[in-house]
Amino acid sequence: MKINFSPPDITELEINEVVEALKSGWITTGPRTKELERRIATYLGTPKAVCLNSATAALEMILRVLGVGPGDEVITSAYSYTASASPVVHVGAKLVLIDTAPNSYEMDYDQVAAAITDKTKAIIPVDIGGVPCDYDRLFSIVNDAKHLFKPSNDIQRALGRIPIVADCAHSFGATYKNLHTGNVADFSSFSFHAVKNFTTAEGGAATWKHIEGIDDEAIYKEFQLLSLHGQDKDALAKTKIGAWEYDIKGTYYKCNMTDIMAAIGLAQLERYPKLLKRRQEIIKRYDEALKDCPVSIVEHYTDEHMSSGHLYLVRLNDATMEQRNELIERMAEKDVATNVHYKPIPMHTAYKNLGFSIDDYPNAYNQFKNEITLPLHTNLTDEEVDYVIHTFKECLGVL
Ligand SMILES: *Cc1c(COP(=O)(O)O)cnc(C)c1O
Repeated sequence: MKINFSPPDITELEINEVVEALKSGWITTGPRTKELERRIATYLGTPKAVCLNSATAALEMILRVLGVGPGDEVITSAYSYTASASPVVHVGAKLVLIDTAPNSYEMDYDQVAAAITDKTKAIIPVDIGGVPCDYDRLFSIVNDAKHLFKPSNDIQRALGRIPIVADCAHSFGATYKNLHTGNVADFSSFSFHAVKNFTTAEGGAATWKHIEGIDDEAIYKEFQLLSLHGQDKDALAKTKIGAWEYDIKGTYYKCNMTDIMAAIGLAQLERYPKLLKRRQEIIKRYDEALKDCPVSIVEHYTDEHMSSGHLYLVRLNDATMEQRNELIERMAEKDVATNVHYKPIPMHTAYKNLGFSIDDYPNAYNQFKNEITLPLHTNLTDEEVDYVIHTFKECLGVL
């Protein structure tokens, strides 16, 4: 048996939709992208959705829609992938990284509150592994800090407090207090990259909750301008006979989704409830098998939240980094691919060069040093899951 870590789950349905798109005469942003946006908004319960070429682009465009830039500060977690943090640098704002709480994958919320200044213009919590963050806590933190907030555009004025901008790259389909993520934070970004739960090969989406006094259609138009050269007509609108004329409203960016990508997404969305259910079955199988092992696991399903079941994160109690790394190698020798989520952001060269040091993030480091992520994807059979469990226990020395 050979167990891959996270291969895409592609069926005839996706293949047929892509072939249809290719044969349709329209392959870039067009009817399929617009249809996927409508269906995602309906699924999540948001006013609209904007499909783009990645979650990274979605997060960056959200910060730009919010008017975040030089002179501003943005808070996010030290325990994530670089793409939670790099968009803050892209827009020219100051990146503020927060340590995790002890034995948690989430930011230490007391440290978040303490890091707020009169320059803070967004907080980016990360739904690690598909488990929603404590959004009630985050909203209470930004409500308590209202007096510090100095709005500098219409959306900021309408909110009257620091916006919560969730990195939901892992949590498409998850719920927090019965609301889908995407409809919980003020703005949210999703990833449809090949290794994520729901894929368009590359791709992502931005969503937001309605803001009193702000037109959702105006926000949508702003995303369109920002993601397509600042051009006031998209390529499809320009193909209407006689409609060649257009204007460039700003020297903006290029990160739109193509209809070929959207075709994959339309098929994935149809299958998604079943895919989420299968992930839940696999997680329950792992949970049951590992409950007596010397490991700490994440609770994906509680009264408060239903995770999207993106990652099966395991921490080896009392293990050193060397022991964790050896376990990864031993499992690889038995053809089980595992992974580590995440090497904290301050440990990477780019962030060291920005002045960050892992010494300031002891909890994130402890979280990382004994973490191993087991394979969790919807191509796995029960027999394969059992093989992963057997291999893991064997390599851990608890059989
Ligand atoms: C994958 C990922 C992203 C980036 O997604 P892309 O679609 O590749 O840009 C952002 N944040 C987290 C936590 C991720 O895992």
